[in-house]
Amino acid sequence: MNSFFYLLAFVIFGIVTINWAIFNPEEVQYYIDIMPNSLTNITDEQFSHNFCESRLQYNKGPEQWNAWSSLIITTVPLVLGFPRYNLLYNVACLLAVNGIASFHYHYHLSWVGKQADEIAMILANYFGQWALINMYYRSHEQNLINRYNTAFMYIFLVLNTLTKYDFLFPSIFGIYVSGTLIMIHRVSKKYKVPYGTNLAISGVGAVCWIISEHYCNEYTKFGHVVWHAFFPLGFYKLILDFDDAKTYFRFHRNNLNTATRIRSRTNDFIL
Ligand SMILES: [Zn+2]
Repeated sequence: MNSFFYLLAFVIFGIVTINWAIFNPEEVQYYIDIMPNSLTNITDEQFSHNFCESRLQYNKGPEQWNAWSSLIITTVPLVLGFPRYNLLYNVACLLAVNGIASFHYHYHLSWVGKQADEIAMILANYFGQWALINMYYRSHEQNLINRYNTAFMYIFLVLNTLTKYDFLFPSIFGIYVSGTLIMIHRVSKKYKVPYGTNLAISGVGAVCWIISEHYCNEYTKFGHVVWHAFFPLGFYKLILDFDDAKTYFRFHRNNLNTATRIRSRTNDFIL
């Protein structure tokens, strides 16, 4: 019954939209030509955001090193495998998408590239924090805590659509990630998952990125490349450790034998 209702609504909506488009060709043309730019009231010629690499090229793209090294971010989940826990699985998918978006951003230095890159980062952090909240708090507390995470994500996304706040992204994202770091510490203690090495790997990436942006020269520009490699590696390893911990914890709690994973991570079942 439900699916029939959705199908009916979908068909009605489709007919109405197509009907409107056929009888209003000028308006359709207006949306295609004008609307994308009027959303932010800025064109890609006016929008400029240069990382160290393109600053050394007189603020001209493409940032070849940064663009191609972005694909490492996509490769990490594809090589290491996807988590089973659905919220962490979302983080992995967003990381895979983020690498491609980041390639586009660094290559074209465009507004849409920036949004594609940053929205994937915000959402990855959102799902990651949600997963950690669920792993740490009891079921009746989870929604109460996670609503702050949802509110932060929503306000962050809305503010980030405005070009004049472009420069604020690293700071606000840093604040958002700090919340996740607190949850990583708590969940790690609860499930006895060591996190020092993995966080240190990501930390090295972050420091290299900060150095490249603040002391930009022909050598430090590779700090951004190191960031693209080290940051996802450390964090993703942690995500997989948490995913394993969650699975084994459930078995442990139910007094079943220790879970043994066979076959590959993406295509496994537990004995
Ligand atoms: Zn980058």
